[in-house]
Amino acid sequence: MNGATTSGELRAHNRVRLLRAVHDSGAVRTRSQLTRDLRLARGTASVLVAGLAEAGLLHEEPAPGHARGRPTQVPGPHPHGPVALAADVREDAWELAACELGGRVTVLDVRPHDGTPQGTLGPLGEAVEAQRRRLGHRVVGVGVALAGPIRHGGLVDIAHLGWRSVDVPALLGLSGMPVIGNDTVLAALAEARRGHLRDVRVGLHLHVDFDLGGVLVVDGRPVPGASGAGAEFGHMPLSGGDRPCPCGATGCWGMDVGANALLRDVGLAHGGGRGREQAERVLATSGKAVEANARALGRGVAALVNAHDPEVVTLSGHGVELLERAGQALMAACEPGLMAIRRDRPPRIEGSALGWRGSLLGAMESVFDHFLTPEGLELWRKNHPDQARDTPDRQSVTYSTLARHKPL
Ligand SMILES: [Zn+2]
Repeated sequence: MNGATTSGELRAHNRVRLLRAVHDSGAVRTRSQLTRDLRLARGTASVLVAGLAEAGLLHEEPAPGHARGRPTQVPGPHPHGPVALAADVREDAWELAACELGGRVTVLDVRPHDGTPQGTLGPLGEAVEAQRRRLGHRVVGVGVALAGPIRHGGLVDIAHLGWRSVDVPALLGLSGMPVIGNDTVLAALAEARRGHLRDVRVGLHLHVDFDLGGVLVVDGRPVPGASGAGAEFGHMPLSGGDRPCPCGATGCWGMDVGANALLRDVGLAHGGGRGREQAERVLATSGKAVEANARALGRGVAALVNAHDPEVVTLSGHGVELLERAGQALMAACEPGLMAIRRDRPPRIEGSALGWRGSLLGAMESVFDHFLTPEGLELWRKNHPDQARDTPDRQSVTYSTLARHKPL
């Protein structure tokens, strides 16, 4: 019972459990299914749901396709309920979204940036504050994914852009402290909550964009490292190269996997977070460059599988396309690198079901992880205004061109 002793504590504990169950299941379980999942008495569940609806946290709708009789109710996000603002900052652009309990994402803004810390984070901070003014007390936190190692909760290095110890919270200039996370770590977190790493004890997640990041996921949690900068499998010499990497090391795996390597292979300019569209064209048209990328990816995967013995290896970003377009080359490069004891039952290698949206969803999860606590809900109760504010329009959920992949 997590030390819940008084009836008030027990109620608070059950409120958190119910909201967590609604959120984690994508707001599709019916009230009676949730009641069973959480082993609650029916009466207790009714009182809990009613209380949460009154508090502006949940709203019930009839289950779709229910024909006759009393409709089964599905608890989901309240139309004026909590919103996590989540941003995915890539090397060339950022995307800002409003996320509701259950994981519904509404993209609010997508903008290219100039690659400088100020030119990237200044406008993003302003966009976040504008949304916070619009949504008022509905905003329960801000999560930001960035394409580089993050130390001590906010100091970011993005070698391709020349960022060194950039103080992200200071440059965002928000009125509250944002949750800052590495894009790969957050994509891995989303994969563990809503993708192929769900219920996996030991998994490996690799996120491929301009280069690649990778992290071990144990019991649903990416292993962050002592200072938080641990998701850097891309900076290990796993593919046999000897090129100097902007990170300062030599022969990094990330030099051979991702958009920069695709562009380099066909003789196009690369680096500095530029060339996304050209790289996508190369990915679609140049079998040779794609296979070289996939082979480098496969060699590195073998080394990491030897070291960590994961059940599943998941790929996000361009990793999904590399697997789709050159899966054979990837596997052919992976297999000879596996230890003999691994070859009988090699781990599954799977493309992320979340596509490009993983980092954004992971940023959302990190905000709701703070909110879905007795303390977070108590703060909501205190802040909840009597009058509802503006609501993201349910009918106009948009999907940006930056992440122009299937809607969730
Ligand atoms: Zn490196």
